[in-house]
Amino acid sequence: MSAYFSKIDLHCHSTASDGALSPAALIKRAHEKGITHLALTDHDCILGLDEAKKAAEGVLTFINGVELSSLWRDNQIHVTGLYIDRNSPTLLSYLEKVRSLRVERAMEIGRKLEKQGFLHAYEECCAMSKEGASITRGNYARYIVAKGRAQSADEAFNIYLKKGRSCYVKTNWPDLCEVVRVILDASGIPVLAHPKRYDFTNTKLRELLADFKNCGGMGMEVSSCQMKPSDRDYLARLCLEYGFLASVGSDFHHEGQYLELGYNLVVDESLPKVWERRQT
Ligand code: AMP
Ligand code: MN
Ligand code: MN
Ligand code: MN
Repeated sequence: MSAYFSKIDLHCHSTASDGALSPAALIKRAHEKGITHLALTDHDCILGLDEAKKAAEGVLTFINGVELSSLWRDNQIHVTGLYIDRNSPTLLSYLEKVRSLRVERAMEIGRKLEKQGFLHAYEECCAMSKEGASITRGNYARYIVAKGRAQSADEAFNIYLKKGRSCYVKTNWPDLCEVVRVILDASGIPVLAHPKRYDFTNTKLRELLADFKNCGGMGMEVSSCQMKPSDRDYLARLCLEYGFLASVGSDFHHEGQYLELGYNLVVDESLPKVWERRQT
């Protein structure tokens, strides 16, 4: 197989969810890194798209995106919706519904943090986040670090936020097939995000890909910044086998997370690419 480094990045976050940079600052950074195509994919939120699109005019090709949280067999699975119509009524009402779910969950996480000695955790976490942004566990991790109760976001997850820890809240995200339908209804391309991050066995990953394909999924990410070449080759083979479009994304959130916009995104020549399928 012959592969090349892509200057396309179709997965990253801004202050509209748990990213550190504003949408305009993200575009500036992408341009500095030589990126030609960027999709902004905030968690369950499209608040940053208009600002990013405006900042990208004459600079790079900007693609409307979103990263939706879903459940498949009780596992939290992320699906990016690329090239979405950000005015789709189905998408907008879906995002309203998930927004309420996230607010309730964030308040519950806040109550649990208060039992661990934090004061006004929900209010203070919201105050650190942009109005209207999705409050994710990433936002709480930053709050916990700011309070000096963890050295890093990773540590905040390990002490408080990840499954099995004191402030974890189980969330009833919508079903995988429902988020796929919402993206398709908004004229978007549903892409399975970071397939290796779920730590599934090969058999289980294949079952996920088959179910995703059956309910209308069209693409999968085949490369991220720190992926081993052997994992990349494996995902490329699965991508061809299941007839998916290939996507690539850094999942950049902030500086110093050991990954970067457009860094080390390697894609095989032989794969059909999501950005070649759609030009706008
Ligand atoms: P949520 O959608 O609210 O469950 O939050 C998920 C987000 O938390 C992910 O998108 C990551 O940005 C962040 N996250 C998850 N695990 C970790 C970790 N171990 N260290 C730092 N951030 C994490
Ligand atoms: Mn995140
Ligand atoms: Mn994700
Ligand atoms: Mn992401």
